[in-house]
Amino acid sequence: MDETMFGRALSELRGSATVSTASQADVGRLIVVSNRVAPIEEGQPTAGGLAAGVLDALHEKGGLWVGWSGEISPGESSLQAERQKGRIRLQMLDLAQADYDEFYRGFANSALWPVLHYRSALARFSRRDYAGYRRVNALFAAAVAAKLAPDDVVWAHDYHLLGLAAELRQAGVANRLGIFLHTPFPAAAVFMTIPVHADLARSLCQYDLIGFQTEADRRAFEDYVLREADGHLLPGRALVAFGRVVRTGVYPIGVQTDDIRRQAEAGPDCAQTTRLHTSIGDGKLIISVDRLDYSKGLAERFLAYERFLEQNERQRGAVTFLQIAPPSRSDVETYREIRAELEGEAGRINGRFAELDWTPLRYLNKGFARQMLMPMYARADVGLVTPMRDGMNLVAKEYVAAQDPIDPGVLVLSQFAGAACELKAALLVNPHDPDEIAEALETALSMPLAERRERHAEMMSVLRRNSLSAWRDRFLGDLATRR
Ligand code: UDP
Repeated sequence: MDETMFGRALSELRGSATVSTASQADVGRLIVVSNRVAPIEEGQPTAGGLAAGVLDALHEKGGLWVGWSGEISPGESSLQAERQKGRIRLQMLDLAQADYDEFYRGFANSALWPVLHYRSALARFSRRDYAGYRRVNALFAAAVAAKLAPDDVVWAHDYHLLGLAAELRQAGVANRLGIFLHTPFPAAAVFMTIPVHADLARSLCQYDLIGFQTEADRRAFEDYVLREADGHLLPGRALVAFGRVVRTGVYPIGVQTDDIRRQAEAGPDCAQTTRLHTSIGDGKLIISVDRLDYSKGLAERFLAYERFLEQNERQRGAVTFLQIAPPSRSDVETYREIRAELEGEAGRINGRFAELDWTPLRYLNKGFARQMLMPMYARADVGLVTPMRDGMNLVAKEYVAAQDPIDPGVLVLSQFAGAACELKAALLVNPHDPDEIAEALETALSMPLAERRERHAEMMSVLRRNSLSAWRDRFLGDLATRR
């Protein structure tokens, strides 16, 4: 992206406002930038951890949120009129078809996402898509620059916006800029399978602070910069690279435990929960909730459940596995393939084990409003969360927070979810090993009450400490500190 292109994008998008003349009343605000601006209306399903986390944080603190509206515009990408929702101001962009195809479907979700989740073999890279990615990062930057006052702090989110700071710096923006990566950051050798890895790293280093979910992610990035980008370390986790000083930190995203438990307890009053309770009766329930994504390990999980049913004849008819899997990115081919595969597998497993009055696997290809999920988690004896790789996995944390502390369920958790670094009292499994998952299901379903309580209490103390507001406050506190 050259300066002329940025200038054009900026003048198209900013209307009459300019960087230097923005209102003084705006000074020192928080500006959040993410690919999508979440549906703000209560009760709407939000199918992403990022959306849930940022929405909760902004509701409390107030500020401006800039992001894609989710709409495709018939012509060029364009800015919508700014809207106010409670304490949050929203600045949304509609994307042109080519921008959507190359930025969102293309580089972000067909190249970056698989590599960041250690699935390089699934990545589809093209220079055209990358040019689109840079172009849309420049559009987002222009929308931010148009609203920016000198003391505003910009907090960008996730893998869609690795190039945002570079575009802002190129336009002369000197504000504090931070990014939080919700996904994993892979080992250097894996990251380097992206042909433009050096350009991405250079862009990332234009931020002042880069936040990661786990120490392993942070260290992987640091390792890349030290070995491959001629960087060196300063005290206090600062790196000198590409002629700048950039800091890194670990900020595991949290959940609002009290709200979740309240929603879980309110559940029996709602029709959906009643239907679930009635249909399960006295039986045992295993629950999984994931966007339909190959990183979530759904096919491997189905196989593990099949193995469990093979090996535990007594459990047949007594246990139900409920998999909620709202479709996502369904216009990306790999996602259509996984959907077809899972439909086949669910049908096969049910065909093999079902009885007239028992369906072993209930596979729901639709989403639920977040607060509706909490009573379902609370009813479930086991939360089965086995992604192959996951930045954090908020579902794992929500499952724990939704439990009745007097009679809690058991979390079976992949060791490759970011949440495993904190939830060490879960039954940790390797998602590549169906036998281990099957054994963990057996252990979970027969675990004595005292052990369930003990494990739950241990996990709750971590969740209370690393809450959603602690995540936000620690990140923004570090971003505001000049070093
Ligand atoms: N979620 C939801 N409705 C659904 C499925 C999921 O609201 O039907 C929410 C879920 O409660 C969680 C988030 O979406 O807060 C998923 O976050 P997670 O970190 O587990 O995975 P991601 O989708 O971000 O990869």
